[in-house]
Amino acid sequence: MATERSYYELLGVERDATDLDIKRAFRKLAQQWHPDVNSDDEAAARFKEINEAYQVLSDPKRRQVYDMMGKAGLGDMGGGAGSPFGEGFGGFGDLFDAFFSGMGQQPGGARRGRHASGSDLRYDLRITFDEAVKGIEKELEFDLLDKCLTCAGSGATPGSTPSTCATCGGRGEVRSVRNTMLGQMVNVTPCTRCNGDGRVIVSPCSACRGDGRVQRRKKIRVTVPAGIDEGHQIRLSGEGEIGPRGGPPGNLYVAVHVTPHALLRRDGTEIYHEVHVSIAQASLGTRVRIPTIEGDEELEIRGGTQPGAEIRLRGRGVPHVRRPGTRGDLHVTVHVVVPSKLTKRQRELLEALAAESGDSVLSSSGGIFDRMKDAIG
Ligand code: ZN
Repeated sequence: MATERSYYELLGVERDATDLDIKRAFRKLAQQWHPDVNSDDEAAARFKEINEAYQVLSDPKRRQVYDMMGKAGLGDMGGGAGSPFGEGFGGFGDLFDAFFSGMGQQPGGARRGRHASGSDLRYDLRITFDEAVKGIEKELEFDLLDKCLTCAGSGATPGSTPSTCATCGGRGEVRSVRNTMLGQMVNVTPCTRCNGDGRVIVSPCSACRGDGRVQRRKKIRVTVPAGIDEGHQIRLSGEGEIGPRGGPPGNLYVAVHVTPHALLRRDGTEIYHEVHVSIAQASLGTRVRIPTIEGDEELEIRGGTQPGAEIRLRGRGVPHVRRPGTRGDLHVTVHVVVPSKLTKRQRELLEALAAESGDSVLSSSGGIFDRMKDAIG
């Protein structure tokens, strides 16, 4: 297996290749390795690889992610053979058609009854900060078009079966052959009688009116991995809407939304918290209570801590979603609060401190620098 090769290598292009270069390279390779042309397993594997590479490199957003972080960075965005988003290429056949319809093609193996696949669905799931950090199992409930149980999805009245389309002979497509200078050219178009299905339903099921699908409420459990973050998507293959008349199902995409924590701020695997201490506490040291993923705990602020100092608690951040067992850090920033109002006693003590340190300070006993009169009361 050549899984270590980069997508650029697979397509035989440079890393700075233009979209057109990529498209050209892919076309050439696709013609060479397409399963309709080559029936052996090696060709199928090669085609899958170049298809995967093309899916990523032809999409500017995914290409950028891939350039920065490699395959791992793509995560749920998918380097998979299928199109992860919305209406896309349903498979090799569709992909091939998208590029080559109308172009010459040697008559290959019969493509029997291609069924349209069902729609991909998106489910917006809101979870708490805690659930995102620790992971959780959730039950989703939603309505979708699911298999008609009366006809088991075929769309035909129980007891009857769809008959093979006479126009296309069950291929779902019509091929017209013409002779040219370069040899025989074959033009392939979807069969208009069966809409590319290859089969015609003579007696439609009454429950689903021949569609093979009915609206139904579905419950599904989804495991949200620890460390998931706002904007992440979980792909559940085949859990989307089923296709008409026995067509394959689409995927379910669970879009995760995380409610922020009141006291902890998260950035990826890092967690940030801010504490405020007085001048005396920063100078002499103290203990403060801080929230953590594991619950509230005491944190020692050492004497002499400077304003803005960061105390880093290693391994107390968010688990890495793709590297279980590794966690980020908890960063605690210490802010030193300077009092804006002083009691008489506090002022005396601070003046004594200033005198001891040899610091010159403004006096409260009148004079042009006295701006603290209201504070004395
Ligand atoms: Zn039915």
